[in-house]
Amino acid sequence: MRPSIIHQSAAGHRVPPNFADYEAERARFTWAAARAELAETPGGGLNIAHNAVTRHARGPGRDRVAFRFLAGADARTVTYGELDADTNRFANVLAGLGVGRGDAVFVLAGRIPELYLAVLGSLKNGSPVSPLFAAFGPEPIATRLNLGSGRVLVTTASLYRTKVAKIRDRVPTLRHVLVVPDDPDDPEPTPPGTVDLTALLAAASDDFATVPTAPDDLALLHFTSGTTGTPKGAMHVHEAAVTHWATGRYALDLHPDDVFWCTADPGWVTGTSYGIIAPLLHGVTSVVDAADFDAGRWYRILAEQRVTVWYTAPTAIRMLMKAGPDLARAWPRPDLRLIASVGEPLNPEAVWWGRDVLGLSIHDNWWQTETGGIMIANTPAFDIKPGSMGRPLPGVEATIVRRTDDGVEPLGDGVEGELALRAGWPSMFRGYLNNPERYARCFAGDWYLTGDLAERDADGYYWFVGRADDVIKSAGHLIGPFEVESVLMEHPAVAEAAVIGKPDAMVGEIVKAFVSLKRDVVADETLRLDILAHARRRLGAAVAPKELGFLDSLPRTRSGKIMRRLLKARELGLPEGDTSTMEGGAS
Ligand code: AMP
Repeated sequence: MRPSIIHQSAAGHRVPPNFADYEAERARFTWAAARAELAETPGGGLNIAHNAVTRHARGPGRDRVAFRFLAGADARTVTYGELDADTNRFANVLAGLGVGRGDAVFVLAGRIPELYLAVLGSLKNGSPVSPLFAAFGPEPIATRLNLGSGRVLVTTASLYRTKVAKIRDRVPTLRHVLVVPDDPDDPEPTPPGTVDLTALLAAASDDFATVPTAPDDLALLHFTSGTTGTPKGAMHVHEAAVTHWATGRYALDLHPDDVFWCTADPGWVTGTSYGIIAPLLHGVTSVVDAADFDAGRWYRILAEQRVTVWYTAPTAIRMLMKAGPDLARAWPRPDLRLIASVGEPLNPEAVWWGRDVLGLSIHDNWWQTETGGIMIANTPAFDIKPGSMGRPLPGVEATIVRRTDDGVEPLGDGVEGELALRAGWPSMFRGYLNNPERYARCFAGDWYLTGDLAERDADGYYWFVGRADDVIKSAGHLIGPFEVESVLMEHPAVAEAAVIGKPDAMVGEIVKAFVSLKRDVVADETLRLDILAHARRRLGAAVAPKELGFLDSLPRTRSGKIMRRLLKARELGLPEGDTSTMEGGAS
């Protein structure tokens, strides 16, 4: 049997980690001291993009490479100096369109250079920005643009034609759609109603005075899902950069000469906090690959780009495990020194596989859209317990609680409860868009309640148990059942719909839907495929159900709520639990 702990000693590291004594660093750490590592914007305040880009461009880091964009029609390398000039151009484009402080900019694109320019340029302009996942279908795009009152959308010609054009008239706030050609060497005419971003950038000045945003000015919008209702727009502020900087230091151990690769898409919070902001704050070089997962390609990137710190996800690691050790060993990685992973449980076997096959333990860490940055982590400074998410980072106070009628009660070690964090870290979300009640319900006194069930052991390590709600985690992406059910219900044959997460060895969970049909509609294979295709068209492949079952009726509580948990228990052949509140159930 494997031992339950992997010992790491600071002395055994090729590059000494940024900290070696966990307890001492926690005792010493203050957010005020971390804040002092960042610069004020000329004119005052705190601006993420000033710290991420301009500060380096105006110093010795000017010629250092900020991004290596690997794939796509427009592969290129961009230095901090160039990134500063290009993001100034983008900010000037916005200003020229009359888009100002507080006006929301959305970006819907693959991992192309313009996505990165748009995010950072918007921040310079004081415009909150929201990158959307390019694999979303028209429906999630429309919902999010409307929730965030999107005024500008940056997208590509093909995404505009296939997705945005269909919903544009449903987004009344949207004034400007700025389009990047799919092939910069052979641009087609920009679609009617849109403007050519390339031409605007070429004509814009590369000189811009970053707006002196206040630390608590809105900077980023990331959408996340709950069990019920529309997605929730988590609001993050410029001060979040303090957490991005600190966690880049402690959890990702970033050093100035690092080549860092975060494989997450900026459409999800990890791809923005750690695919854009944290590495730039540390002045390191980031690799960006626009292509989809491919085991051989990923090993080649790690080797050829000489990646030193790699931040990825358990689904990707499981896919690499499936591709076999020979492929892993075919590409030497002498430069790689730290692998971290986030987003879903990382099986202990995966940690051991990393050690055996990649030669490095995988450092699991935990956080969520609302926390804006890594909160709990296995760091290079202490031993790893495979299967555990690690320990709270310096500046983060975590606990396990049980909700009571008048607040929460802290629980002891080894007792399962809800993971809670002491409010007040800089990247904590400051609200859900247009939903103050939902935001207030996340807190009990000083504690932010995460919605995750976990346990803490006697050494202070946290162990993930599950979600307290019905959201689905598929390939690291959080999917709200309500959003999927609403689209299923639009199909003319469907009377009612419920979706669950069905466990899957590779991607964690897949979305499985159950529907009951309208009177006189006959359930058959053609209809099943038609409903699945409808969902895929409207929601996009990342969100749509992969499986669909027909039921005569869906189990409901007496108050009319669909009992997803019961559907899940039946699907998995598990005990059905308490059904006393069920319609027609035992009383
Ligand atoms: P998101 O807001 O989309 O980033 O999803 C956050 C959720 O992903 C958390 O609330 C957890 O349920 C799950 N999650 C994130 N990191 C981990 C981890 N290391 N282990 C287990 N679950 C995780």
